Amino acid sequence: MSVGFGFLISNLIFPPKCVNCGELLDVELTERVIDPFCPKCRLHFEHAKNDECERCGLEMKFCRCMPQAMNKVQCTALLKLMGYKNRDNSMPLRRFVYSLKRTSIKMRNAFIAEQMRGLLIPEMRAYGLLPEDCVITYLPRSRKNKALFGLDQSLILARSLSKITGIKCLPCFKRRLFTTEQKNLNKYERILNMRSAYELLELGDEIRDKTVILVDDVVTTGASMAACARLAYAGGAYAVMGICLAKTEKSEK
Ligand SMILES: [Zn+2]
Ligand SMILES: [Zn+2]
Repeated sequence: MSVGFGFLISNLIFPPKCVNCGELLDVELTERVIDPFCPKCRLHFEHAKNDECERCGLEMKFCRCMPQAMNKVQCTALLKLMGYKNRDNSMPLRRFVYSLKRTSIKMRNAFIAEQMRGLLIPEMRAYGLLPEDCVITYLPRSRKNKALFGLDQSLILARSLSKITGIKCLPCFKRRLFTTEQKNLNKYERILNMRSAYELLELGDEIRDKTVILVDDVVTTGASMAACARLAYAGGAYAVMGICLAKTEKSEK
């Protein structure tokens, strides 16, 4: 197999490490690394995908359950790669899930997008949807956090997913300035806060009669997704579905 000199250099300078536990990956120096996990963490990830949803009993990759907030605004589904219990600090993939908010690692982003594609394509097929019937968009991060971490993880995932599915990626929402930090609020305050947190950009007919796919990294109450879904419907969307890396349960305050 012909190998890239680029991979050799890059693997020498940045020895590929597991995105979850940080262990050095056992790869050939000239090999392009496509799995961001060490074998142990990859196994954790595969187990997480096969975990059964407490509500519907289906494996996470088949579960379409949505938080109530999303149900209320008529989203069609929330696709998720894994469930995640916030209270459980021993959760083996914690670092993998939360590192998305802080760092942009190409190999990890590409991997998650590929995994999301595996969820999305069968769902589109089930509804007879072609790439041109859909628009991928994302839930923009608050300006404060975007400035703090220098990245918008949902935008990064949305772009990667768009690239490998051929579905157009289109920014649809803008964050308003006055919202308070979601994490300091309870479930009901979150929904109210989020309802006024986003506004729809000038889109013309770009999402009219399209299925809008909302990409986010972690979904907790679904308040943000619900708020954006409401706007997307107001902009003429035919259907709205969410897709995320992890659906978490947050302890009630
Ligand atoms: Zn690992
Ligand atoms: Zn379920």
